Amino acid sequence: MRPNRLGDAPPQFVDPSGFRQLRALVGRERITRAIEDRVCHSYDGTKQRALPDVVIWPDSTDHVAGVLAYANEREWPVYVRGAATGLSGGAVPLYGGIVMDMTRMNRISRIDASNLMAEVEPGVVTGQFQRRVEELGLFYPPDPASAEYSTVGGNVAECAGGLRGLKYGVTKHYVLGLEVVLADGSVLNTGARTLKNVTGYDLTQLLVGSEGTLGVITKILLKLIPLPLRLRTMMAFFHSAAEASDTALEIVAQRVLPRALEFMDRRSIKSVRDYASADIPRKTDALLLVEVDGTDESTKQEVERAVAACEKGGAFRVRVAETEAEREEQWSIRRAFSPALFTLAPLKLNEDVCVPRSEVTKLLRFVTRAGTGRPVTVACFGHIGDGNIHVNLLYEPGQEDEVKSIADGIFREVVRLGGTLSGEHGIGTSKAPFLEIELPPAQIEIMKSLKRLFDPKGILNPGKIFPDEFSRARRESRAILPAGP
Ligand SMILES: Cc1cc2nc3c(=O)[nH]c(=O)nc-3n(C[C@H](O)[C@H](O)[C@H](O)COP(=O)(O)OP(=O)(O)OC[C@H]3O[C@@H](n4cnc5c(N)ncnc54)[C@H](O)[C@@H]3O)c2cc1C
Repeated sequence: MRPNRLGDAPPQFVDPSGFRQLRALVGRERITRAIEDRVCHSYDGTKQRALPDVVIWPDSTDHVAGVLAYANEREWPVYVRGAATGLSGGAVPLYGGIVMDMTRMNRISRIDASNLMAEVEPGVVTGQFQRRVEELGLFYPPDPASAEYSTVGGNVAECAGGLRGLKYGVTKHYVLGLEVVLADGSVLNTGARTLKNVTGYDLTQLLVGSEGTLGVITKILLKLIPLPLRLRTMMAFFHSAAEASDTALEIVAQRVLPRALEFMDRRSIKSVRDYASADIPRKTDALLLVEVDGTDESTKQEVERAVAACEKGGAFRVRVAETEAEREEQWSIRRAFSPALFTLAPLKLNEDVCVPRSEVTKLLRFVTRAGTGRPVTVACFGHIGDGNIHVNLLYEPGQEDEVKSIADGIFREVVRLGGTLSGEHGIGTSKAPFLEIELPPAQIEIMKSLKRLFDPKGILNPGKIFPDEFSRARRESRAILPAGP
């Protein structure tokens, strides 16, 4: 099977009679084969694109179950999609077939303050959910930088990380249970309405981060915690990346565990200065954004200790935000990191490698060397507190091979340092070719066996993580393949 390129408008799988059957299952207002809707559902946050045959907006678990049972019988690919902000190609309908857009399943069904939990549908936008629980004095810490757009379902499927990982962990630490529709249309409920649960294997955690390849998440039971009373934010400016990354370690060594500890290197700073006219001193080669939370008194003391650690680490200036406006200004610099990089080149590969915290300085040195003398620009920023650095390769069209070779070298170094290819964006299509750099064959085989157990015909998100699985499943079932492009 070859992927369905954007130019291949004719449906690959869903024929007119199949379309009618699907329409009968979900209702005519929840399905389309209009080309404009298909194009709008052909991409995610990467530049990859492929056309689906149809788009379905399910509104209930029954809709999802009906569509999957039908698609499974016919061996049609099904791609689940949240807000399509993914950065690894996860929601791209590589082989065509059905895109199931979950954004209409966006109800917050319950917020249970006494039991510190909430039940939501997958299409709820993360930022909206955060604000709803905060109005009740509760806190949902996972905070991808895309929170204003991405969905809780997409966050769970990718195990999104983000800005608060060091202190509060990532999405998986807040998922207590799931309702998931399996490939054959059966419904599985995992977990329990308890804060502790060790009964049997942990299927909830297997499904978190499964990137739409094992099942379609239709309900999510989330853990909440009390909302901290006070925030304090500061920014420190350094002459070198090494000074900043060593200081990130020193802050924690001073027994301060910031809720955000973000880093930015020289190239990222230059692009933000140009893009957002950000007020960053000219001689800055690296900066740290630090935010602590707790009580009025505890945050005051923590900021004092963090300022001292920064000064000891070589910061030539430290700005503590005294007002909400100053805090907002510091965060607006952080939010501009990603879009600002497009001022350096039209194309960007945003890697999300993660290394043990003590190895970040070595990683930054390696990455800078990897870009030296090459036509590609390398810029780094990210969640330095937990070792998760976004290594961005900025390039021009036609430099793809160069970019792939630099990425390959970086991944090998990351693994040598004891790190991992992906701290938060997932494997999808982008990192699938590199999987074997990190995982031994025996481990990949166990993962593939799990995929076959959950989805024997390989209809769920084919082409992702293990690109060869869809063709294998179809060969084994001896299904007749539609004409390829
Ligand atoms: C500017 C920007 C900043 C970002 N910052 C961060 C960050 O700080 N941390 C971080 O971790 N990520 C970040 N991301 C990446 C992205 O936002 C996350 O991966 C997010 O979790 C994707 O959510 P989504 O709703 O957009 O999902 P989509 O992109 O639509 O889908 C992502 C994957 O989840 C699957 N999926 C979606 N819904 C379901 C469901 N209901 N059931 C089963 N599978 C499903 C899809 O098939 C796909 O494989 C950022 C992206 C952008 C564009």
